[in-house]
Amino acid sequence: MPKTPISLIVDDSCPLIHVYQYHRAARTLEGPTTEDGRLLAAAVPNDFLDRFCDVAEAHGMAGKFSIVPSPGGRGDVARGVEGFDAALTRQWLDTARKRLSARFDFCPEMITHHLALDLATGGYFPENENDWSQRQDRATLTPYITHALQILKDAGVIATGVTSPWVFGIEVEPEYVAAIAAARKAVYEDNFSWYFLHMLHDRPDARPWVASREGGSAVVSIPSTLNDFFWPTIDSPRTDRAYIESAADLYLTADGRKGKIREVLDAGGWPVILSHWQSLFSNGLETGLAILDEAGHRIDRALAGEVEWKSCLEMACMVVS
Ligand SMILES: [Zn+2]
Repeated sequence: MPKTPISLIVDDSCPLIHVYQYHRAARTLEGPTTEDGRLLAAAVPNDFLDRFCDVAEAHGMAGKFSIVPSPGGRGDVARGVEGFDAALTRQWLDTARKRLSARFDFCPEMITHHLALDLATGGYFPENENDWSQRQDRATLTPYITHALQILKDAGVIATGVTSPWVFGIEVEPEYVAAIAAARKAVYEDNFSWYFLHMLHDRPDARPWVASREGGSAVVSIPSTLNDFFWPTIDSPRTDRAYIESAADLYLTADGRKGKIREVLDAGGWPVILSHWQSLFSNGLETGLAILDEAGHRIDRALAGEVEWKSCLEMACMVVS
């Protein structure tokens, strides 16, 4: 029997900047904090990427890995992230290319994952990219996505698709999809793209689908089917084994009989696991990454004959073939 694809979506990843710090409203004068009152880290050290790669490689994981091109609007990944030695941005990109490119697709998550960039002036609109996007059409979205892709290309990154920060473009989705196709064609001369927008966590039977075939281009929508169960680690000081195992149970119990991955497989869907750089980083405790590692072990042991790790592009190719 053919194996079912399983995939890992990593959102909000970028060199150095803890992008989540920009999304969480500040409750103290020192800045935004976790629910239990610890200050959110301003930066994510490069060696966290090394440890993520260790876990992904150990289990042969595949999926997609966002690279926010201009995280928080602070410099960009081609020139260097503002406030840090440019060599650190280059080192992060080198590691991502060397260790992830074989099994993960890279993509922008629009430009800043924060305020929308005014392409005409280089300044910022007073609203985030999500709010801005919902009133746009292909005439404005195409140059916006082209700019995002071009920064990654200038940084030596091949981006095969696009991730939507928040639910970017959901109100104007046909225009958004047309803009993705046009921008990918303009920057990479490629007629085949995927995008991540839909979180179908109450639709365990969901699989990717072809969103558009227009003018010789095809765009495939890759939905996530599993919630980000790593998320509560941002707000918890716990790092003990029992905590890690109970969170891993939400994905798959050690015997492989229960958990959301099992539910999705039983419903005939493809398990596409949503995660975020900040929920794996867990404000420096890296508890989310430990849960991912434990879930990876369980998938290896209990589901080896049933699932196969696939990148987003690989899943997209399966859908059109
Ligand atoms: Zn995001």
